[in-house]
Amino acid sequence: MAIKGEKMVARLILGKEVSEEIYGELRQRIAALKSRGVVPGLAVVLVGSDPASQVYVRKKGEMCESLGMRSVTIRMPEETTQAELLSKIGELNRDPSIHGFLVQLPLPKHLDEKEVINSIAPEKDADCFHPSNVGRMLIGEPLFLPATPAGVQQMLIRSGIETAGKHVVVVGRSNIVGKPMAAMMMQKGSGADSTVTVVHSRTKDLAAITRQADILIVAIGKPRFITADMVKEGAVVIDVGTNRIDDPSRPNGSRLVGDVDFEAVKDKASAISPVPGGVGPMTICMLMCNAVRAAEMAEADRR
Ligand code: NDP
Repeated sequence: MAIKGEKMVARLILGKEVSEEIYGELRQRIAALKSRGVVPGLAVVLVGSDPASQVYVRKKGEMCESLGMRSVTIRMPEETTQAELLSKIGELNRDPSIHGFLVQLPLPKHLDEKEVINSIAPEKDADCFHPSNVGRMLIGEPLFLPATPAGVQQMLIRSGIETAGKHVVVVGRSNIVGKPMAAMMMQKGSGADSTVTVVHSRTKDLAAITRQADILIVAIGKPRFITADMVKEGAVVIDVGTNRIDDPSRPNGSRLVGDVDFEAVKDKASAISPVPGGVGPMTICMLMCNAVRAAEMAEADRR
């Protein structure tokens, strides 16, 4: 804690460093699989030409290859029908060389996202979006963990931040970040055992609740929404938000900021993740973990 009158300067929690550590461990697991004749394979299905999705899909493929995994990218045109997409998912479900796969979201408007997710074989569900995997996570028997919240949890664990008995406030309740994040932090065990509160757009006096957080995890998609007065002195702050805002001083006229007012909050928090460089690199890292785990499970089944 800061001595009275002394400014607290937060320790930075950097996803790049944490992910490098995890990649080191993954390389060993991949080498072990290969020594038993298994090359972990991850497929990504991309429908249409959403520019952000193209970038994510390319990055996922590059990371797979740099780890020595098999990477398959399936590009389908914008006008792909639901039946065509489901048929492709069926093929991937049956392909023994593909251990995990995902369908990049968002899908074009005419496609039914829920039906698509439900048609992925749960044991190959690298994003951990299938309801049976969400349920397994909730009851504490996960096959996989959803990538972004799992990345946040690893950042906490590997930065030596105690979570047991701490009050974790999660801001945001989406199915991909807020809800699974809350579910994971309230589980029994390492990097969890927390007392969890979830707040969202209908919460009354949100700041009164965020100020109670020992660990504040923010995922709302609102640039610099969390200001210093909303944070308790000495809290740990993890910013999942990624928002592009105008910045005429930059060559491309914009820059990325988080959901937290980093400059102000860093003087109050004991540890904080910046944007960019914080949670960002963890999502792909945890996706790779899921793909390797899928390959390990398939191999164990085969034996
Ligand atoms: P969603 O838009 O799906 O959900 C946003 C959530 O924030 C909702 O639950 C919403 O509440 C809540 N919310 C919105 N405005 C407010 C407000 N003013 N006060 C309180 N709660 C509010 O977003 P995601 O969860 O998918 O993503 C959140 C952010 O995280 C985005 O910036 C996204 O880009 C980023 N992200 C980053 C990733 C990474 O790899 N670093 C990965 C995934 C997301 P309600 O439910 O009531 O509408």
